[in-house]
Amino acid sequence: MVEPPMTNDEFLAAFGTEQACISALFDARWPVGFRCSACGSARYYEITTRRLPLYECASCRLQTSLIVGTVLEGSRTSLTRWFYAMYLLSRENGISAVRLGELIQVTYKTAWLMAHKIRSAMTEADAFVLLTGDVRIDRCFYGDPTFDDALQPLLIGASFNEEAEPVVIKIKQPDPDHIYENKRFIKPEGVQAFHEEQTDCSSMPDISRYCKNNPALVMVVKQLKAWLNLTFNGIGAKHLQRYLNEFTYRLNCKIRGGSAFQETVGWCASSPVITYPQLTAFKRTLQVPWLYFGSKSRWRGSHISRWGA
Ligand SMILES: [Zn+2]
Repeated sequence: MVEPPMTNDEFLAAFGTEQACISALFDARWPVGFRCSACGSARYYEITTRRLPLYECASCRLQTSLIVGTVLEGSRTSLTRWFYAMYLLSRENGISAVRLGELIQVTYKTAWLMAHKIRSAMTEADAFVLLTGDVRIDRCFYGDPTFDDALQPLLIGASFNEEAEPVVIKIKQPDPDHIYENKRFIKPEGVQAFHEEQTDCSSMPDISRYCKNNPALVMVVKQLKAWLNLTFNGIGAKHLQRYLNEFTYRLNCKIRGGSAFQETVGWCASSPVITYPQLTAFKRTLQVPWLYFGSKSRWRGSHISRWGA
């Protein structure tokens, strides 16, 4: 039987104190007990004079911090806030950075950064799994269909079970080089790259490489668009991939019947930190057409000029 998701009260009862979060993060980092990263010893002393404990190896004296090597590395935010953020991002519809900041009482910038660090752990989880068996891939789009030359083309792929239900889903933004920019159409190289990067090629039958309008995948894309638009008022091309990963991460947890929150804590405890400069570094994306015109209001849109308006 699938356990119902944890309620807010249950979460606060279990993770409302810094000490509870310290032990939960410790357990997530070392599920079979502490191991020194240098010598492998399981014996350690705990140094509790700092805000967060340090663990000193009893054999080689190497000191290990609780958060170094996790997505929390370098953060001064309390663990209770971090755990609440992980809980909120693991719930059905996730949360926007504005709302997260209000709830955990941090600035917008801190909330935005925390949410993206948690998303980067979800991205690690996504990269860990390849599509295998009966795989179908389809092209889809994100964006306002009125502005068809501003759409973001995406590829959705899924492994299907014998009942023809998707069991693992991935949605990826193709490389801009793999798209005919003016038509916003993905070239065969884009589909091929998805096939090579996201699937276990050896077990993939050729015939199912490309499928059009699978009803289950069409429904997933519909839910994705509604989520991006309602929760965040839409997402631009630069950060879109991390939101796609967050969406499929939760969806895949739900299909498996796993606890998204417990899994998120596990991935945050085992994934490397992503820094603000890394997050905001230049990333090549498809240009939106109004950029060439200086502003959206000056841009008239291909759909308007086409009809001679
Ligand atoms: Zn050691």
